Amino acid sequence: MEFRKEVEFARVLLPNGTVEENRIEVRYDPLTLQTSRVLKKTPPFSDIKGFEDEIESSRGWCPFCPERIELMAARDPELLNGELLKRNEAILFSNIVPYSKYSYVIRMTNAHYLELDEFKKEHFTDSFILVQEMLSRLREGKFYISIGMNYLKPAGSSIMHPHIQTIISETSTDYFARLDWSALEFYEEKKKDYWKSLVEKEREIGKRFVGETKKTSWLSAFAPKGFYHFIGVPEEREFVDMSEEQIDGISDGLIKILRFYRSKGFNSFNISIFLADRLGEHFRTNIHILARTPFDRYYWCDVYFPKMFHDEAISYLVPEEYAHELKEFM
Ligand SMILES: [Zn+2]
Repeated sequence: MEFRKEVEFARVLLPNGTVEENRIEVRYDPLTLQTSRVLKKTPPFSDIKGFEDEIESSRGWCPFCPERIELMAARDPELLNGELLKRNEAILFSNIVPYSKYSYVIRMTNAHYLELDEFKKEHFTDSFILVQEMLSRLREGKFYISIGMNYLKPAGSSIMHPHIQTIISETSTDYFARLDWSALEFYEEKKKDYWKSLVEKEREIGKRFVGETKKTSWLSAFAPKGFYHFIGVPEEREFVDMSEEQIDGISDGLIKILRFYRSKGFNSFNISIFLADRLGEHFRTNIHILARTPFDRYYWCDVYFPKMFHDEAISYLVPEEYAHELKEFM
């Protein structure tokens, strides 16, 4: 496993006459070799106030609010016999805009809007358990399964109300395919799965290792795909069989990271969990979370031409510097 990077320096003559030297690191993801650019110059983020009116106006039509969800949720006529799956506040139903053969939304909370430090472990745990229940009804065969979350508009969410999604497809997404074959190559050579090895290696190096929640290790990504990209690695490999203790450990880590984001002035984030289910021994379920530009009335989008066309992520923060800051929250 190699943590490879190239370094470039850019000299900038500032209007005040001084010459500033900027360091740009091009880092290769140790598994996929995809590159990310790590800068150490954070652009000014806006204040996260100023969207109270949007919380109120979207509440008026939100399909996930308790008074509308039963009427508006699309149902799965096959696996779920037209029923909604429920557990405490969480409700699972079909995505009305499916991305794959099976495509679901899990409404997490009764509340229409939550500050990042208001998310509770149970919101994630209940939602994940519903995903497990749904997966247990899936027929035999190979599927690429992922769970994702977009929170607030900068993260791509059209609906404010907290919800996660799951995509179950016979064909992998582009990046999932990379993970799959890179992990297979790694496994064939090392006889151990990549994520298990990554945790061992990062624990030994120390500077990106954040800590643990129940049965789950957390670290900051060497080649981050955005702001504060953290990776969670569970002890139990496949999602559908995970114990409640394992699910609890994942949820606990996620809410601790959300509290950390909040302390840094962020309010919008993405999560992606790539499930090992049905893929084989070379793959281990892996969890990714990162913050997006803060949502406010004049927010800017951090997915610009490098990401859209070059598939190149840019981080304005250095993983080794913020890993230890998260430790306090763990
Ligand atoms: Zn709502």
